[in-house]
Amino acid sequence: MAADSTVFGGGLTPQGMADGVRVGLRAVLTDGKLLVKRCRDCGEHHHYPRDGCPFCGSLNTEWRQARGQGTIYSFSVMRRAEVPYVVAYVTLDEGPSMMTNIVDADADALCIGQRVAVRFQPSEGGPPLPVFVPV
Ligand SMILES: [Zn+2]
Repeated sequence: MAADSTVFGGGLTPQGMADGVRVGLRAVLTDGKLLVKRCRDCGEHHHYPRDGCPFCGSLNTEWRQARGQGTIYSFSVMRRAEVPYVVAYVTLDEGPSMMTNIVDADADALCIGQRVAVRFQPSEGGPPLPVFVPV
């Protein structure tokens, strides 16, 4: 895992969306942009969003747009669901990892380290959610 060992936790809804992602990103998603926090003092990115930098403790942080590209750190295929889905941790190129879903992919062909790109998927009554597709 990257230097930032922080991953975005959270339970899963029956629809396969990570609650933590739904709640945590509600405030930071705008116009289909994936935003992560960056420390102005040490330069490290972190996720989940918080006021203080987990690397140096500085409160001098800002929102930055992530490139939306990363690699699969880990994943699991939920085959018992009515419609099987893939839950994954994706490590963004900026460093932090986030819990998300992999969509539009052959679950049996996925592998750790595979490159993925963000896509925004509509949600019921909330902002679009960031999911990832293989590239
Ligand atoms: Zn810092």
